[in-house]
Amino acid sequence: MAKRTRAEFLSRHPVCCFCGGIRASEEEDHIPARTLFKARQWPEGFSFPACRDCNAASRHDELLVSVISSVYPDGVTEEDHREFRAKLLGVSNNIPGALQELQMSPNEIRRALRKHNIPRDPTIFLQEYPFLKMDGPIVTCAVHQFARKLFLALHYRHTNRPLSNLGGIAITWFTNIQIQNGVIPVDLAKFLRRHVSLKRGNMELDDQFYYWYYGSEANSFGVYLAFFRESIALLGYVKNDIEEFRSFPKGDLYTPFQWKL
Ligand SMILES: [Zn+2]
Repeated sequence: MAKRTRAEFLSRHPVCCFCGGIRASEEEDHIPARTLFKARQWPEGFSFPACRDCNAASRHDELLVSVISSVYPDGVTEEDHREFRAKLLGVSNNIPGALQELQMSPNEIRRALRKHNIPRDPTIFLQEYPFLKMDGPIVTCAVHQFARKLFLALHYRHTNRPLSNLGGIAITWFTNIQIQNGVIPVDLAKFLRRHVSLKRGNMELDDQFYYWYYGSEANSFGVYLAFFRESIALLGYVKNDIEEFRSFPKGDLYTPFQWKL
């Protein structure tokens, strides 16, 4: 981004939207990260003000989520496959143990087939089924940190102010198999009325990312449900007062990022 445009962006958005509204913005952070989009074509307008620490906080998490979200549907072109291999290499070089954690053992694949009533095709080796183990600690942590930033960004976008450091974000997430099995509560669909569909120029990005949201009138809370390709969905409740989650827990609870001043 040209210097002047960046200065304009930072003067329009003087405060980092990720760490409780107490630090000045220093950089422009693309959320969701460009690495999640084909050929790094991310949606227009999805730039957010960040301090340096917040901008740097999620790089590796974004890479891992990008691998997970690219798995289904499978890439079509040689360029898709090349991008995917580059992401795998990035994860392998930067997040020790992540790729091993994602792999299911033959027994785990057998169990997954049974659990989801998928008939075993005798012409396919077990290891060829495109299952990923999504509940390991490295993947869970990466998805949560990724979601934490995503919901702080979306909340800023829809309320025009950073969530304060008294606020909280409750995160739940779903894999494609859970989505197909109807795990996302149906009453959410009635509640979340506003569908945000994204573009870059004339290019529709809905096949890669879209979300639904609801915001209360006084902006005291928001609910966001974001889909990444057909692989994962992230659900976030954002409230100005984290204490309100104590009476109705809605997932794993996070605050805005907290840095030493
Ligand atoms: Zn920050």
